[in-house]
Amino acid sequence: MNTISIKTNSGGEATITENQFEEFQSNFRGSVFHAGTHGYNQAREIWNGMFDKKPALVARCVGTSDVIHAVNFGRENDLEVSVKGGGHNSAGTAVTDGGLMIDLSLMRRVTVDRKNQTARVDGGCLLGDVDYETQLNGLAVSAGIVSHTGVGGLALGGGFGWISRKHGLSVDNMISAEVVTADGRVVTASATENEDLFWGTRPKEKNSSGRSRKKQKPWGSMSV
Ligand SMILES: Cc1cc2nc3c(=O)[nH]c(=O)nc-3n(C[C@H](O)[C@H](O)[C@H](O)COP(=O)(O)OP(=O)(O)OC[C@H]3O[C@@H](n4cnc5c(N)ncnc54)[C@H](O)[C@@H]3O)c2cc1C
Repeated sequence: MNTISIKTNSGGEATITENQFEEFQSNFRGSVFHAGTHGYNQAREIWNGMFDKKPALVARCVGTSDVIHAVNFGRENDLEVSVKGGGHNSAGTAVTDGGLMIDLSLMRRVTVDRKNQTARVDGGCLLGDVDYETQLNGLAVSAGIVSHTGVGGLALGGGFGWISRKHGLSVDNMISAEVVTADGRVVTASATENEDLFWGTRPKEKNSSGRSRKKQKPWGSMSV
């Protein structure tokens, strides 16, 4: 590889040199793929096979520091960036065509606090990961129907599933989210911290007709 052409945020094209790529990779704990790397085609696959988009780079993160590093790399080079959670979005929004894809698919840790009946889940978790850990404790989370859907995309879109009629949507039960911001900071968004950011991750408490959503028992927090 000599250079990589990559799509910028403003629709243009930037060039990543071999040195820049190697520096990025050397500070990254996960894997970075480009078109010439073994595993690249598998790394860009999503659930909806109608999409055949080709990111210039895929940064497959294994922890929050990797996410920060990838976000910083994207911002510093003005790159078009996409985020892949479970890869189930039928419009294929997880994959950028020509930009940098931040892939969370290896970040799948689930920690259940049995006493407080909450769960903390990583940004790349699938619904089945959460069920697998919560059922051990006799608990369940209001989420979707299909176990290989991603928690991240599902919850950000509301999240309706088997027990929603009784326990509400996934977002109704979300206590907080750990968010990596575009300037590379890690912040907590909740009802008491960075409230505007928390609002951005879930529907308003009151809708446009002024009706309040029913308050539900919280179930956990999501690490993004
Ligand atoms: C087979 C199937 C069954 C489904 N069943 C249900 C259901 O029962 N109930 C329901 O409510 N919905 C359901 N959906 C819809 C599903 O919730 C959405 O398609 C959702 O966007 C999938 O999320 P994902 O993380 O898997 O997808 P992705 O394509 O990875 O992500 C979707 C969007 O969310 C963003 N995103 C994902 N994770 C993160 C993160 N951690 N941080 C920041 N951004 C993130 C991505 O950038 C992308 O734009 C289903 C979809 C499919 C294909």
